[in-house]
Amino acid sequence: MAHAMAAEPLHLQPVAEGVWFAQGEAALGSSANRNFISNAGVVVTCDAVVVIDALGSPALAQELLAAIARITPLPVSHVIVTHYHADHIYGLQAFKEAGAVIIAHEGARAYLTSENARLRLVASRAELFPWIDEQTRLVPADRWVGDSTELEVGGERFVLRHAGPAHTPEDLVVMVPSRGVLFAGDLVFSGRIPFVGQADSSRWIQSLDELIKLAPKVVVPGHGPLSNEAVQDLQITRDYLAYLRQAMAGAAREMTPFDEAYAATDWSRFEGLPLFKAANRMNAYNTYLLLEQEVGK
Ligand SMILES: [Zn+2]
Repeated sequence: MAHAMAAEPLHLQPVAEGVWFAQGEAALGSSANRNFISNAGVVVTCDAVVVIDALGSPALAQELLAAIARITPLPVSHVIVTHYHADHIYGLQAFKEAGAVIIAHEGARAYLTSENARLRLVASRAELFPWIDEQTRLVPADRWVGDSTELEVGGERFVLRHAGPAHTPEDLVVMVPSRGVLFAGDLVFSGRIPFVGQADSSRWIQSLDELIKLAPKVVVPGHGPLSNEAVQDLQITRDYLAYLRQAMAGAAREMTPFDEAYAATDWSRFEGLPLFKAANRMNAYNTYLLLEQEVGK
């Protein structure tokens, strides 16, 4: 098994004409996996390459640049960040050094200068060494965008939609209409239960409704395989979030204890989905707390 540790060259999977993605491992970030746990997208236009998300370490980003160089001689002109979570952004400095312009939603600015972000990087330098070290830094965007905007590169149109605050305040999704591809960051989980965390599920549901209207053919999520059942996946994530809210709303209003409300809920529609056991109870609990706050307002 020793040779299994030797990293294979980063592999780009085809998504659509001129569109590729690198798929991270389904795992938590560790030194063993180089923090390769999230996906990155690659869109080759006539003039340049646009990358969506920067992967979880500068070394991985270098590998992505090398993989791109194997499919096209064109430079990477832009990196669009879907959200500033460590596993999606620690590679940014490599793209910056390669001359790319970094684009992200301004909702991330407060996080970037926060104590949380600093402490997270300090922890990552210990947990993810040597992939994250003293040389790894947080890279702000060169261009902060507000609401929704469009970018044109090499005749290709990129629709950037602010979909937050949902998974994070700065959630940005990227649609490439001519190729029918939606890069959805962590808003869509393909064929599995999402991790809801502290997300604003009401806003998240609204965002998913808007994405369904874009009618993408393919969704490249922030984690896991791409989906050719794009609308169906958007719908499952949406219905699950709506069901959590519906199931917990009465309990939060009537101050029914969480355990009681959880036990009284019929979960049969979702319990066959991957990660149900790992995520559902915590998702329901977080939703219960969120609804308690909403009720209290
Ligand atoms: Zn993520």
